[in-house]
Amino acid sequence: MKVTAIGTGYVGLVTGACLAEMGNHVVCLDVNPEKIRILNEGEIPIHEPGLLEVVRRNVEAGRLQFTTNVDMAVQHGTILFIGVGTPPDEDGSADLQYVIAAARSIGQRMTDYKVIVDKSTVPVGTADKVKAAIDEELAKRGVEVQFGVVSNPEFLKEGAAVEDFMKPDRIIVGSDDEQATLLMRALYSPFTRNHDRMQVMDLRSAEFTKYAANAMLATRISFMNELALLAEKVGADIELVRRGIGSDPRIGYSFLYAGAGYGGSCFPKDVKALVRAAQDEGIPLRVLTAVEEANERQKRVLVDKVVTRFGADLTGRRFALWGLAFKPNTDDMREAPALVIVEELLSRGATLSAYDPVAMTEAKRILGERPGLSFADKADAALEGADALLLVTEWKEFKSPDFDGIKAALKQPVVFDGRNQYEPSLMKALGIEHHGIGRGTPG
Ligand code: NAD
Repeated sequence: MKVTAIGTGYVGLVTGACLAEMGNHVVCLDVNPEKIRILNEGEIPIHEPGLLEVVRRNVEAGRLQFTTNVDMAVQHGTILFIGVGTPPDEDGSADLQYVIAAARSIGQRMTDYKVIVDKSTVPVGTADKVKAAIDEELAKRGVEVQFGVVSNPEFLKEGAAVEDFMKPDRIIVGSDDEQATLLMRALYSPFTRNHDRMQVMDLRSAEFTKYAANAMLATRISFMNELALLAEKVGADIELVRRGIGSDPRIGYSFLYAGAGYGGSCFPKDVKALVRAAQDEGIPLRVLTAVEEANERQKRVLVDKVVTRFGADLTGRRFALWGLAFKPNTDDMREAPALVIVEELLSRGATLSAYDPVAMTEAKRILGERPGLSFADKADAALEGADALLLVTEWKEFKSPDFDGIKAALKQPVVFDGRNQYEPSLMKALGIEHHGIGRGTPG
């Protein structure tokens, strides 16, 4: 099939590349010429495991191309995915300007039947707005062209995006257009061979499903983070509690890790957007409002622990930071807890030496030149002469580090373990002062 992916970010590029991998002919369009230049030079503008290989293979096979040429991209696809950003507006609602602009650019050019697929995370009712925008553009041109609008929210996880796209748990398709539904079934059939993973529903329910999923996941994290704070006070270990409750199949083990707060380009903005949309409908979502508040507090928990240990004035103190990305296996720094931690520690006079396996370029771009902040080219190098280590992102390479080396490099053996990667009893045996999240009394 002929497919166009509008927007070549984490979602659009993965969608385009993975659909090309299944034999489709895909054009990826972006308004950012720099991204297209990088892609046309055989590289990818983001870090996503396995993606570069899929992109190169399909470019080579002539099934995948990248362009800024809107005319060509719109003409190419029978199915056009809109995978552009939907950042939060000032009031927390999803800013739809990029989605609507993409829809208009389609309406301004289409000459034959198209299926326009909202893959971006968009509020309930957006498909109607996309339809209306396209209708308006067609009316301006004085032409009648048939089209269907479909909601197909994306559930991939950054860091495992290719795998998630290739082996989806479910494919949600919201559609009220029979022809569009048939084409979506055909497009996704290679991904549903084993069993039917496609759930077809009405447009609004599909749009809502994406927000509900992210809101549920964020709720589990904030729930555990709050319990972790209490666990510390009452001398309980949240890790043991997690295992204890996770064994109940009604609860399950996933997404119950206490830590330094959630971040990324999805949970924070999607929770905000849902809360905002509910407010507009006069249905305040109290649970989700608390989820967000709890997360804001949680992003500061590591700094609070540093302050309790070293005092409010951190002038003359130096800290090593391991991990900057909002989670492992990505270079995405959007809403990363590390950003809050860096700001707070610097504002208290500390100096920082940070290391992340892939997110340092992105971190430098976002944070800019900061007096007191330096980046180390290796994890070990960040430790030299620091008063303590803060583990912020649980990259694999931090899971079993050389603890003797850590002890030797730090001024005193103090570790703030923001992702509960190290066993308190082991740390104690090694003579390392370990401050986890919700792991009983520190020591
Ligand atoms: P992104 O910021 O990485 O990429 C968006 C891209 O769209 C950018 O390259 C931008 O230049 C391009 N763009 C903007 N307007 C355009 C236009 N009119 N024509 C062509 N290109 C245009 O965003 P992302 O992380 O890929 O997210 C995209 C959407 O998918 C968002 O709604 C997001 O919430 C959702 N989503 C993201 C993830 C994720 O893990 N990142 C997962 C599921 C859903």
